[in-house]
Amino acid sequence: MRPDLLNPLFAEATSLKGVGAGLARPLDKLGLTRVRDFLYHLPDRFVQRRAVQTLDEAALGEQIIVALTVREHRQPAGRGPFRVIAEDSVGNHVSITYFGRAAYTAKKALPVGEKRWVAGRLDQYGQTWQIVHPDQYGQTWQIVHPDHVSEDSAGLQGHLTEAVYPLSEGLTQGRIASLVHQALGQAPRLPEWIEPGLLAREEWPAWHEALARTHQAPDKRAKDRLAYDELFANALALMLVRAANRNRVGQPLHGDGHLRAKLNLPFKLTGAQSRAIAEIESDMAQGSPMLRLLQGDVGSGKTAVALHAMLVAVEAGGQAALLAPTEILARQHADTLAKMARGTGVNIALLTGRDKGRAREALLMNLLDGGIDILVGTHAIFQDSVAYRNLALVVIDEQHRFGVGQRLMLTQKARRTPHCLAMTATPIPRTLTLAQYGEMEVSRLDEMPPGRQAIDTRVVAQERLADVIDGIGRHIAAGHQAYWVCPMVREAENEDLAAAEARHAMLAERFGERVVMVHGQMRPEAKDAAMERFASGEASLLVATTVIEVGVDVPNATLMVIEQAERFGLAQLHQLRGRVGRGSQKSTCLLLRGDMVSKVGRERLALMRETQDGFLLAEEDLRLRGGGELLGTRQSGDTPFRVADFEQIANLLPIAHDDARLLMERDGGLSSPRGEAARVLLYLFERDWGVQLLRGG
Ligand code: ADP
Ligand code: MG
Repeated sequence: MRPDLLNPLFAEATSLKGVGAGLARPLDKLGLTRVRDFLYHLPDRFVQRRAVQTLDEAALGEQIIVALTVREHRQPAGRGPFRVIAEDSVGNHVSITYFGRAAYTAKKALPVGEKRWVAGRLDQYGQTWQIVHPDQYGQTWQIVHPDHVSEDSAGLQGHLTEAVYPLSEGLTQGRIASLVHQALGQAPRLPEWIEPGLLAREEWPAWHEALARTHQAPDKRAKDRLAYDELFANALALMLVRAANRNRVGQPLHGDGHLRAKLNLPFKLTGAQSRAIAEIESDMAQGSPMLRLLQGDVGSGKTAVALHAMLVAVEAGGQAALLAPTEILARQHADTLAKMARGTGVNIALLTGRDKGRAREALLMNLLDGGIDILVGTHAIFQDSVAYRNLALVVIDEQHRFGVGQRLMLTQKARRTPHCLAMTATPIPRTLTLAQYGEMEVSRLDEMPPGRQAIDTRVVAQERLADVIDGIGRHIAAGHQAYWVCPMVREAENEDLAAAEARHAMLAERFGERVVMVHGQMRPEAKDAAMERFASGEASLLVATTVIEVGVDVPNATLMVIEQAERFGLAQLHQLRGRVGRGSQKSTCLLLRGDMVSKVGRERLALMRETQDGFLLAEEDLRLRGGGELLGTRQSGDTPFRVADFEQIANLLPIAHDDARLLMERDGGLSSPRGEAARVLLYLFERDWGVQLLRGG
């Protein structure tokens, strides 16, 4: 149960004053559904303003607060802006300029003859030094859409430093700021969970104060403390899962090899694959359940390793389940495994959320009878209604988008805890491995199957789009297939989708029926249908947002174009690129870059060209982004964190990890005062699956 203390924070966003149905949607887009979320909706940056007596004290472009007397309302001529002409205490004139429909507000807020305090950015308009009005000194100032207008200086007192929040359509800075303020007002004082020595050494404020300060002004200590909380919560939760797992009764499995002997794979296992299989087999023979992560770049052959592990389970009289993140992937896995295992007599079945009625019932009966040896599917395979005769091994594929902890919880349902193998192709830096997988054992496939050709990667300027499309034309005409990837970033989702659809329309105009599209907002049936047309070769060009990132395997697709490549993380680009180069033919990846790419952005793209080592790319990405690259630092799905950024992860995670380990050693049941406080923290960050395990024993 969540501590009562936290209840106000978990109230719905609609409980805040001023949040109705209209705001709920844009708030939802930003992930702001409960009061707590507003506390952690941290400013992107701050505006610093200076209070000035006269306009000539300020520099052009400076954010200022100044007292002005309104002289004149100037109606726009035609479609021009509405201007309010005002003057400072020594007679300098400035135009307070309003575009669009703001004129009405402007007239009311700035009546002629009255004195007002105005906060905004001082700019210049017109390039020439001319005397537009006789009473001006030749310099024409303006403030466009002032941030605030107030009748007295006190009204702007709090606005010298002001947070700039991430927004979505339909929201304003003022709105968000006032909601954050309300949420802060509802935040209780919480007991301290950070080790006192660490708190003192880092000079971190208490939780409540840290939040208030983070929203008020740039404050590294306060921000670090909040990030640390999140990292500590995550480390602790993963350790709790790990500890609970150690105490569980598992099922020692000793496969006799009779099924594996019947396997007739068209290739010889790589050394890395053999090593991983040996490690897995040895884990599975133990009494405590395996918790192992299989890390291997795209194409390194994780499926064959998984199959071997599953066959060990079946040989020993158990069942295995393979959990895939999407239906497309589940289907593909079921097909691949069935082909590989042909001749072994092993029965492999597929279950997704779409299976209903009779067929589903029959399948479930068969599963309970033990007629099915291996079940492949989406999370549907762990619903309460799905009962296994003897589930001995769970393989989780490509689940980096969700924390692994929650997935591991699924495995704790069985009477005897099954062994668990998690597989990921996301080449993440070592620090992040620790963050996402806690203390899992790791097997790395650091050797590619033979015969892989390097993917020819090139960075191409966006202006050469026409050439690129001609190239696609030649590629398709020669009977090959290609991917066209469009970016999809949370901050600009609508625009991104519109751009992707426009690109699809443009390509379809040129190549007709041979072009299909998939994106995350399509219905699953439509998505699958499009994927199937591409996989069967009926379609030649697949336009996609990043939904193709994981798993899809079409060896004849040997060309990939990635638009606005600078907007992707390196790890993501690397995974995307791994979709080509799967066959024996030479493959090409074209990274289209816009013309506004920063220096770091260029460095990152250059790195993509130079190396195909996913782990190296991941380390470099962390270094480059941790080094202050703003773009995409909080790209969804890159890390399981919402508060901590890359730099904080790199600096604070090792400390959080050690601290969590110490706490577990001293108070594994979290029953001391600090332990109790840590429980509050776990609930606060919704890592409470760890606590639930504690209670379950
Ligand atoms: P991953 O899931 O790690 O991205 P897959 O398991 O899909 O990779 O394997 C990629 C391709 O490599 C598949 O076509 C598979 O049949 C092939 N493959 C796997 N292991 C080997 C090997 N040892 N030698 C040659 N080809 C292999
Ligand atoms: Mg795979």
